[in-house]
Amino acid sequence: MPTSKPITSPLPGYIEAVLPVPLRRAFTYRVPEGMGGMIRLGARLKLPFGRRNLTGYAVGLHSELPADVQIDESKIKDVIEVMDDEPLITPEILKLTQWTADYYASFWGEMLKAALPAGINSDKVRPQRRKAVRLLSTVTDGEDKPLTDQQQWIIDLLTANGGKMLFTDVIEQADVGASPINTLAKRGIVEVYVQDVMRDPLVGADFPDRDDFTLTDEQQAALDSITSALKTDSMFKAFLLHGVTGSGKTEVYIRAMQCALEAGRSALMLVPEIALTPVFSRRLRTIFGSNVAILHSNLSQGERFDEWRRIRRGDARIVIGTRSAVFAPLENIGLLIVDEEHDSSYRQHESPFYNARDVAVMRAHFAGAIVVLGSATPAMESFYNAQTGKYTYLRLPDRIGGLGLAEAQLIDMREVFKQAGKDVALSPELLEAVKATHAKGEQVIILLNRRGFSQFVLCRTCGETMKCKNCDITLTFHRRDSKLICHYCNYREKVPKVCPHCQSEYLYFVGEGTENIADQLAKTFPAMKIARVDRDTMSHKGEIDEVLLKFAGGGLDLLVGTQMIAKGHDFPNVTLVGVISVDIGLGLPDLRSAERTFQLITQVAGRSGRGTKAGKVLIQTYYPEHYALRHARKQDYDGFYKEEIKFRERLGYPPFFVLASIMIKHRDLAYASKNANVLRRSLDAANTARNARILGPAPASLSRLKNEYRLQIIIKAVNRRSLRETLDIALADAETHGCDLRTVNVEIDPVNLM
Ligand code: ADP
Ligand code: ZN
Ligand code: ZN
Repeated sequence: MPTSKPITSPLPGYIEAVLPVPLRRAFTYRVPEGMGGMIRLGARLKLPFGRRNLTGYAVGLHSELPADVQIDESKIKDVIEVMDDEPLITPEILKLTQWTADYYASFWGEMLKAALPAGINSDKVRPQRRKAVRLLSTVTDGEDKPLTDQQQWIIDLLTANGGKMLFTDVIEQADVGASPINTLAKRGIVEVYVQDVMRDPLVGADFPDRDDFTLTDEQQAALDSITSALKTDSMFKAFLLHGVTGSGKTEVYIRAMQCALEAGRSALMLVPEIALTPVFSRRLRTIFGSNVAILHSNLSQGERFDEWRRIRRGDARIVIGTRSAVFAPLENIGLLIVDEEHDSSYRQHESPFYNARDVAVMRAHFAGAIVVLGSATPAMESFYNAQTGKYTYLRLPDRIGGLGLAEAQLIDMREVFKQAGKDVALSPELLEAVKATHAKGEQVIILLNRRGFSQFVLCRTCGETMKCKNCDITLTFHRRDSKLICHYCNYREKVPKVCPHCQSEYLYFVGEGTENIADQLAKTFPAMKIARVDRDTMSHKGEIDEVLLKFAGGGLDLLVGTQMIAKGHDFPNVTLVGVISVDIGLGLPDLRSAERTFQLITQVAGRSGRGTKAGKVLIQTYYPEHYALRHARKQDYDGFYKEEIKFRERLGYPPFFVLASIMIKHRDLAYASKNANVLRRSLDAANTARNARILGPAPASLSRLKNEYRLQIIIKAVNRRSLRETLDIALADAETHGCDLRTVNVEIDPVNLM
């Protein structure tokens, strides 16, 4: 294994470990005499903690009890078990997770747990072992008994396969039973043994042919900048690759990764959660073979574990994956790519908070590597960094093949409402376009802005909506199982027959879910083959893949779905994209709602007309004058940026200020308030230089979630250092004044303030 020199503790000794608990410190344990083996930094350890046993991580090794350990030696507990001889966490990842935990005012132990494949600490995730057969010699033993035909076939088959095969494969391919193999084993001609086999997520898949095009001049120029930086030994450099959708960014990434391999270094590419399409995964296998490991959430835990081990062993030197893949244990990393770098799925939305894009930049920094952030709609922060020279700016202004970007039109739903005299989900104009597109034998995508979309139940008599008992949030109606579901806490109830508030029978179903839209379309266009893609109904692995592959292969005419179909896919026969209810995002009280709406529309427009035919994009909206829509319609990023950056500066938002959102949560509102007020006073006391603006405590936009009240304090600071200083001092001070820090959740660089 190509690891650096093992750091071994002389046994017995002491180790410092961090545990996956919300505590900002390490704990000391004794390594009991006779434990045997060795402990390396980064190894997982089974450790007693309070009354439980937890999996912790070795972060310090000492032969003597360190002088700064305060507790009595007799109180120090023993390590129960060393779980890895060869740690899955490399020294580089140890450092990176420590930095990340610190940057996000988070917890190292939790960060390490998040950095490893899910479920790895459970007993369920174990290497898969199978029986295998190996040829020892073709010379028979002293008995000189001639080989039977079957035995000879087995030997020939093994010889043809390099001398080694799985037991079951021999049986299947030689068409024999187990007994001739066992006889050969008894005679010492073959050996039957147990082997680790890697579960391959793409086993049995068809791979596309490899396309080999010549890069356009723009692509070549971008690639040259990246590769010449790559060839400069161990120098950190960051690029922003700003290329319209369909401009060939992916091709640049792939060639840059090939270049990293040729330079003897490894490469990591991050993609948004839902963009790692089956088509793309297969393409990567065609190009990189078994040198690529793919990590994404649709893999089974076993598959993910095996991909991870291939990386750790150095068998896979290219990694493509979603958020947590930023911590993949690649050695000698030379290139990191973050595709669709603006995407909010890079942000982990629960503790430990981190943004994989920002961690990728820091990893490149530590490793002396190149980082490329790519997007058609860069995040405000990234574009600002390019403008101020922190990142090198590369642009791909045109679509491949000289096709213009799809023309986007806004459909004013206020007009549609006036003419129809009621709310309709699908405007006549959109329906007309669907019909025309289908008549030409081309495909359609209809996009809804949100999961499940806001279909809810309203009482026409008293006007009340049906709300979640834990969260005070309107429940979403799911037609298929006739249930009301809370999308925050998963609370479910049957649809009531009468209003629980006034007993009226006049319940009204508002809004359109993906199911409803798909049903309406199916009724209107009985001849069209229509499918919907959405997380609620497609939890099971592979189901989304199946639908997408079928659509890509022309087996479907129309796809209805949420955001997950908006990104990353390349369907050349799609010439119409319709967006329903784009406005939902604009109504949210959030600093990034305009940016997100702009990005969504631009991404969606990029799905239309990717082949040789011109595409069309129709956007239904109640706010056609909003600047996010005006600029998105023309795909005018620069125009949008100029307006949005003024707004950010005026209101003291990133990139000009660093934000922290502190959520104080508790079931008892009075208790939450008390803690929030103590913390606010401590923050004011710590903010002596008046470098930070502090707002709140105030009820959060989601003021009650999962049965907890939520109060929010927002800090806007001039820079990160002053923010962390103020926070650290204030948290310590608040605790001495009786603030219960378990109720306090700090989020640095929040993506939204809700
Ligand atoms: P982006 O990632 O910028 O959205 P892609 O990399 O998906 O764009 O490229 C869009 C399409 O153009 C893809 O079908 C891709 O195979 C094709 N393509 C990319 N580069 C070239 C090239 N130099 N010549 C011909 N086709 C290309
Ligand atoms: Zn009512
Ligand atoms: Zn709820």
